[in-house]
Amino acid sequence: MNPSPILVVGSFVQDLTFSTQRFPSPGETVVGQFFTGPGGKGSNQAVAARRAGADVTFVGAVGADAFAQSVREFYQEEGIHAALAEYRDASTGTAGILFDNSGQNEIVVALGANDFLSPHDIPDEFLAESEILVCQLECNLVAVKSVLERAGRNSVTRILNPAPLREELPLDLLQSTDILIPNETEFIGLLERLESSAPTEEELPHLSPDELGNLCRKLGPPTVLVTLGRHGVHLWSETHNKRIPAVEGVKVVDTTGAGDAFVGAFAAGMQRFPGDLPAAARFANRAAALSVTRQGTAPAMARLEEIES
Ligand code: AMP
Repeated sequence: MNPSPILVVGSFVQDLTFSTQRFPSPGETVVGQFFTGPGGKGSNQAVAARRAGADVTFVGAVGADAFAQSVREFYQEEGIHAALAEYRDASTGTAGILFDNSGQNEIVVALGANDFLSPHDIPDEFLAESEILVCQLECNLVAVKSVLERAGRNSVTRILNPAPLREELPLDLLQSTDILIPNETEFIGLLERLESSAPTEEELPHLSPDELGNLCRKLGPPTVLVTLGRHGVHLWSETHNKRIPAVEGVKVVDTTGAGDAFVGAFAAGMQRFPGDLPAAARFANRAAALSVTRQGTAPAMARLEEIES
């Protein structure tokens, strides 16, 4: 029997990317190249899970503009069932991304319609038929809180990727989370909010498993995976407390979206290896490693055949 769908609730953002020799100074115009593509943490994670072999439903919000039209076609091509709420008074989420020739970037994100996503946009039937819910913090937080709570009542496994970590984050969201997947910055940021002391980003990968496990326990959710870039991921739960190393010798081209690749593929890996979180994390490490060898976010997500080979 096929597993029930993975439900991803979150953001769609159209990436508008300009590459230039150098960043313009205030008041200056410089000439550059332009490319555009689908992005947003929620959407990227939906694509990562789908390409990793899962059946995926994505719920998000868009405006009534050309970006919304092209993203509908994109989800169709990817085989993702997308339920997009349309907010006519808002624009579709967009990100203006500037790259200079040293690879540095400057980004402005306008969340637009993502901020209007409402609990009513996420029907109960989606929760009733899903096995796993995946959320992030790049859209309306009332909708995120509501869907996490409702999913708990429907016995859906709830994954929260606390990205981007926002000032106004209600910490009780952590009580409605089964599996928390922060990166190093988000992990430290959450610890700082919960208590006064936290390790630095430099210290984090060098902590012992016991030290890291003790920090994970303080966050609240019963399972925590801290992604550590090229150091892999630390998995902590009732039965595990260990580092799962990243793939070695990867030729890194672009690490943007590596976290999204990991989260989406981890959800797909949980269905592929039921009850075996380390196997799901190894699967996700391979998917994320493939994604960093390519430019871009959604287009860089790995497909099942590549992850398995
Ligand atoms: P991050 O969001 O930077 O913590 O990265 C997410 C995941 O991407 C990590 O847990 C790794 O699985 C993978 N990853 C990131 N950077 C690298 C790298 N340089 N080599 C191999 N895997 C990587």
